[in-house]
Amino acid sequence: MTLGKHDIEKIREEFPILHQKVHGKPLVYFDNAATTQKPLSVINALNEYYTKNNANIHRGAHTLADRSTGMFEATRITVQAFINANEAEECIFTKGITEGINLVAQTWGRQNLKAGDEVLITYMEHHSNIVPWQLICEEKGALLKVIPIHTNGELDIEAYKNLLSVRTKLVACVWASNALGTINPIEEIISLAHEKGALVLIDGAQAGSHIEIDVQALNMDFLVLSSHKLYGPTGVGVLYAKRAILESMPPYHGGGEMIKEVSFSKTTYADIPFKFEAGTPNIGDVIAFKFAIDYVTSIGKKAIANYEHELLVHFTNGLHAINNKLGSNLIELIGTAANKVAVQSFTLKDKHPFDIGMMLDAKGIAVRTGHHCTQPLMAFYGIEGTIRASFSFYNTKEEIDILLHSLETILSRN
Ligand code: PMP
Repeated sequence: MTLGKHDIEKIREEFPILHQKVHGKPLVYFDNAATTQKPLSVINALNEYYTKNNANIHRGAHTLADRSTGMFEATRITVQAFINANEAEECIFTKGITEGINLVAQTWGRQNLKAGDEVLITYMEHHSNIVPWQLICEEKGALLKVIPIHTNGELDIEAYKNLLSVRTKLVACVWASNALGTINPIEEIISLAHEKGALVLIDGAQAGSHIEIDVQALNMDFLVLSSHKLYGPTGVGVLYAKRAILESMPPYHGGGEMIKEVSFSKTTYADIPFKFEAGTPNIGDVIAFKFAIDYVTSIGKKAIANYEHELLVHFTNGLHAINNKLGSNLIELIGTAANKVAVQSFTLKDKHPFDIGMMLDAKGIAVRTGHHCTQPLMAFYGIEGTIRASFSFYNTKEEIDILLHSLETILSRN
């Protein structure tokens, strides 16, 4: 099952932003790992919310407040189904993955980590799954240890097994790497951690839109997602955790909405999920997020994954063909794991990634260049950064050919 030409044409009609020229050339958007574009259903949901339904949620005794509350909570139920959580209350709305990880580090981490404990992360983590652990480990005297990777970008599972011990309290691991595309074997990672009594946090940033998520089947303790990587608005994310874990954790932010009763001498906290949702949330964007999930679900993750894989293979074959044609390895592929999402990093010999990014932009092609918030990973490869093309189901092989042709032209010039 994959997406055909006709499907893609129909899909592209749903994304108005794609139909524009940049520097006089049709936009080719290959920066999907940074953020995905939004379908009309999401854009219209935002418009409709602010034109018809805007009101603060949960306390209002009026119609608009009821409507807003209903729609906000409908997203929670959609998220529950999307990740197969046991209960909607296990899904906490956040600003995004960064906030979700900081929440876990500052609440669960502060409560559970002590001197001598260990937190394991991988070499391919995004800064948002490194720095929050550095902060709390430093405060608690716990040790942050790093699971190495092989040069093709696959996790070194044997090294992981050796690092795991009774001192390990948490393993925080990216499901799919934003810089390399590697899909990590999280089922194995989780069960090995559980054997040692450690909990696992999975960063689902690059996985959510193409890999089926079943938090119960995978026995996940924590999962973090960002709506904007899933065709939804920015400023919304989800932290999933098992009920018992969430109930054991202290609140993160104090304020309105997260309390049962406040007096100057003592405050009691609301039940989950509200205990972790202090203040007025990003109501409109949470409501629109539901439409993004519905959109992805309506296309189907299997078809999305298969089609995006075709795009990845088309691109990597094209890069190899340029190397063969020009006679030497002018293009180096960074991240060649067997199991990947449609993300390909590469460098061009003697060329700075940023300069290439600018040259491609002049041709209407949007790629990302730099360290991709994975500086330790770049250090592992001995580079400052890469050029990264990341594909979505609305991209086409014709667009990839435009990129390949541009790269070949750049490399042929000298
Ligand atoms: N982890 C990964 C793998 C990512 O790709 C990103 C976003 N680039 C993040 C975490 C952080 O997500 P956000 O900026 O939405 O908090």
